[in-house]
Amino acid sequence: MKDLHAFDPVDNEKKGSVKVSTDQEIEKKFFLARTSLKEWKNLDIADRCFFLKEFRKTVLNNLDDILHTLKSDTGKPDVEILMAEIMTTLDFIKYYENNSEKILKKEKRRTPIEFSKNYSYVEYQPYGVVSVISPWNYPFQISLIPSITALVAGNTVILKTSEITPLTGKKIEELIDKAGFPQNVFQVVHGGGEVGEKIIENKPDKIFFTGGVETGKEVMKKASENLIDVELELGGKDPFIVFEDADLDRAVKGVVYGSLANSGQICVSSERVYVERSIKKRFIEKLLEEVKKVDIGDSKTSEMGPMIREEQIELIKNQVDDAVFKGAEMLTEFEHQGNFLKPIVLDQVTNEMDVMRKETFGPVIPVMGFEGVQEAVELANDSVYGLNSSVWTEDVEKGKKIASMLKTGNCYINDVVKNIGNPYTPFGGVKKSGIGRYHGPEGLMSFVEPKSVMVNRNKDDELNWFPYTEKLYNSIESMLDIKHGDSGIIEKAKKLFRMAKK
Ligand code: NDP
Repeated sequence: MKDLHAFDPVDNEKKGSVKVSTDQEIEKKFFLARTSLKEWKNLDIADRCFFLKEFRKTVLNNLDDILHTLKSDTGKPDVEILMAEIMTTLDFIKYYENNSEKILKKEKRRTPIEFSKNYSYVEYQPYGVVSVISPWNYPFQISLIPSITALVAGNTVILKTSEITPLTGKKIEELIDKAGFPQNVFQVVHGGGEVGEKIIENKPDKIFFTGGVETGKEVMKKASENLIDVELELGGKDPFIVFEDADLDRAVKGVVYGSLANSGQICVSSERVYVERSIKKRFIEKLLEEVKKVDIGDSKTSEMGPMIREEQIELIKNQVDDAVFKGAEMLTEFEHQGNFLKPIVLDQVTNEMDVMRKETFGPVIPVMGFEGVQEAVELANDSVYGLNSSVWTEDVEKGKKIASMLKTGNCYINDVVKNIGNPYTPFGGVKKSGIGRYHGPEGLMSFVEPKSVMVNRNKDDELNWFPYTEKLYNSIESMLDIKHGDSGIIEKAKKLFRMAKK
């Protein structure tokens, strides 16, 4: 049996290991997930919410333990863990506890007149077994939010966390146990990409995948062999657009946070900074001042922790070198101590450079000038990605117009990143940033399939049934005229109504 070793990004020390799930174990978990499905999906939503609440309380009662595990797996600052991993997760659980019943309520629908004595409604049924495959950058939150959403909708869940953060996967497994979920409703498997593939081979009814574009394509390709429904939450290259009428000090602080939080390892990091030319010089001066103040380290109040792995630093270096080679000006040094990389500010970048085209996932702030709304929008939309975006202006109406023009799944006016933490709004990407939405009512809907039901209370034979007769043909012809023709009764009635109004 293979082990996954957990390395602390702070010092690259090994902090533990977790057994990789074997093929037989995965198959068994799928069998159990299918077996427990019947009872779980037949529970009232309120009863499923009871278990969500118990889980939420269990997380709260084990805060220190969870914090310690996440710290060891990711090296993140404590505040980041508490705010973005734990608080966000609990907020979303509570949102679904409070709103799922309303969102998934059976819905009455209209029925056309020719279906007389009929009525219709739509009900929502869970997919079955949902597999959640999650990345290392927010291993707690991104594993739990989709899993909990799938569960409250009546699915059973098999989760795979990343091999880079194996202790978090183990901790989630322990929390599920402690919270008292019914047996096998929520299970975790451990392992790398090959375990992810094995999961897909076991034919889950839906896959919720968060990760890189290339892996997302692999997942979709493999899932298509069995026509498995796939939701993909993929990478981003978010534009941060600052107009000359913006509050400059706030925008500068915003970009420092948006680009450097979690050392830039956020899908919604601000990775392309476009600043209106008239204010660009002042923006950069202030930016360099602010960047200097960022506390990099491993203390309780540090703001930037280490990169997850040394290889990540090499990837970032390649992008920065490419930018400098193509004419960018480097305003800071490329410096790192172990995995702790200092922020990098680049000026004179263009959209042709890798640093503006490929996802960086690091603490790099590349700045480019623009002139007016049209150029800003063109530059921002010139990307294969379309996840989040932010627009900075004191004219909120102008900001809203620009938000509508941006080809991104989400947009934040005068702030960054934390719109992903609003449980009431859907989140997801367009273009190569993904397929589907989670969060909000839409997120819950993505874990159910609508079933339409019609009831016929008629006791007699139906007109459309056999035998087909000439009389039936003539009635359909008249019906066509009544419903769609200019001389039909409906058009005539509308005409009379219009005349009466005059
Ligand atoms: P990866 O794509 O490398 O991995 C994501 C998950 O897929 C991991 O659990 C990984 O396992 C697993 N996996 C790898 N290969 C396969 C396979 N062939 N079949 C099934 N599963 C597989 O992403 P990262 O972990 O590096 O995460 C970073 C990426 O995630 C970035 O691009 C980031 O933008 C994106 N992301 C998107 C978010 C969004 O909401 N849109 C949010 C957060 C991150 P293992 O790691 O064990 O190899």
